[in-house]
Amino acid sequence: MSEYDFDLFVIGAGSGGVRASRMAAANGMRVAVAEDRYMGGTCVNVGCVPKKLFVYGSGYSESFEDAGAYGWDAGKAASFDWAILRDNTAKEVARLNGIYRNLLGNSGVTVINGRAILAGRHEVRVGEDIYTAERILVATGGWPVVPEFPGSELAITSNEVFSLEAFPQRILVVGGGYIAVEFAGIFAGLGAETYLSYRRDLFLRGFDKDVRTFTRDEMTKKRVQLRFNHNVTAIDKQADGSLLVRDDSGDTLVVDAVLFATGRKPNTRGLGLEKLGVVLHKDGTIGVDDNFRSSVTSIYALGDVTGGPELTPVALAEAMALVKHWKTGKTAEIDYNNIPTAVFCQPNIGTVGLTEEEARQAGISVEVYKSDFRAMRHTVSGRDERTLMKLVVDKSTDKVVGVHMVGADAGEIIQGIAVAMKAGATKSVFDQTIGIHPTAAEEFVTMRTPVST
Ligand code: FAD
Ligand code: NDP
Repeated sequence: MSEYDFDLFVIGAGSGGVRASRMAAANGMRVAVAEDRYMGGTCVNVGCVPKKLFVYGSGYSESFEDAGAYGWDAGKAASFDWAILRDNTAKEVARLNGIYRNLLGNSGVTVINGRAILAGRHEVRVGEDIYTAERILVATGGWPVVPEFPGSELAITSNEVFSLEAFPQRILVVGGGYIAVEFAGIFAGLGAETYLSYRRDLFLRGFDKDVRTFTRDEMTKKRVQLRFNHNVTAIDKQADGSLLVRDDSGDTLVVDAVLFATGRKPNTRGLGLEKLGVVLHKDGTIGVDDNFRSSVTSIYALGDVTGGPELTPVALAEAMALVKHWKTGKTAEIDYNNIPTAVFCQPNIGTVGLTEEEARQAGISVEVYKSDFRAMRHTVSGRDERTLMKLVVDKSTDKVVGVHMVGADAGEIIQGIAVAMKAGATKSVFDQTIGIHPTAAEEFVTMRTPVST
């Protein structure tokens, strides 16, 4: 009989925590998971899922506008009801919460509701209760960060944006990463007067330069008012409830909501990690080795709290690799190269592998193939939306080292291409692949002439 209450105690039932709990229980471990907020974590409750549903919702405005050219007349002017989108999304999230709870229960995992803190190297406290475990896994995710300035408490974050009482007819989104770009697209599509403020000269730092400029141009066409090299310095609430935003050049803007999407910090504060000697990085993320083990041998961590690529499939992969490591004793196998990712702005960005800039910096002899075209759908709709596709090839090996797209369904298309890249596909394999006609995706296998080397 083990001297501990559990073989594994997981703190946080988010993407990584739920997957690790279920897999460990399936492998015969006695598992408990503590969750203090919402089953399924950020992704299910205030992240990927409600966000994607909002993206779908926001796409209808253009569909209604474009339908006329295809002969459709829906009869009356389209109108949008925020409460319906918000409440139907909340219902779907509640359904998923139930599914996650059942999945854990059916796997034999003990679910403990409440905030857990570390009380010892093998001890976790939830409220008044102390539980012991051979191993503790910290999978507590992250939390939005808003810089401090006068009136910053009036700003909202991605935590609040899904449940706003009233639809903001005018909104300022601050930031230039995934969340800012996605929500600027969502609110513009839903009909809000939308502004995006970013502190440097071009948003989406880290993405391919062509993708960044192309997205900038497409978002501008969709009436998102971009303010680059722009910093918010103060927010004041006015008598009518609106917000007066001041910037560093002395200009003002009146909006109904200011959404700060300026990054996330790891949920490590107050967990008791430092007291136990768990080494944290400067940014508060937990330092772990290749097997997700912290500097304290019984304490492990994975997902956003360790600061890797903050993506749900990465947290899931880490959870599966960790449980496999426990089962086999072999080093956790996880490859952080060529992780595909999408930004669900409109049109979407999909990307995998190296940007052209990264490839050149790495000394690769680069060959670039590029196509910029109007998708067939818009030849008839007349919409001035364009699609960008780009291949970055290593000329010395013919290997495709980066694939980038801005266009409808880019996330769906790039997922398939990521499989080819994982298999080491060369440009000549792309060339030998027969296209599916008529699609936008076939362009990826028909680009023959490099635009630059
Ligand atoms: P989380 O899912 O954050 O789970 C951590 C859990 O721990 C939470 O439920 C929290 O309540 C709980 N917790 C924290 N502290 C304690 C404690 N002391 N005791 C008990 N419980 C605790 N990723 C994608 O791949 N695709 C997307 O489209 C996407 N969209 C996103 C949109 C938004 C707006 C945001 C914010 C994120 C998005 N992400 C997306 C990122 C994705 O949500 C995260 O990478 C993922 O959720 C990380 O999983 P995790 O298990 O590390 O942490
Ligand atoms: P990001 O780290 O992606 O972007 C943060 C942005 O805020 C950057 O543009 C950054 O500018 C800017 N910023 C940071 N600090 C300040 C400040 N003090 N003042 C002004 N601007 C500031 O974070 P997000 O919040 O957008 O998203 C968090 C993570 O969640 C993402 O990195 C991603 O991993 C994940 N996510 C994934 C999604 C997906 O897969 N589709 C969707 C949403 C989130 P600078 O460029 O100068 O650093």
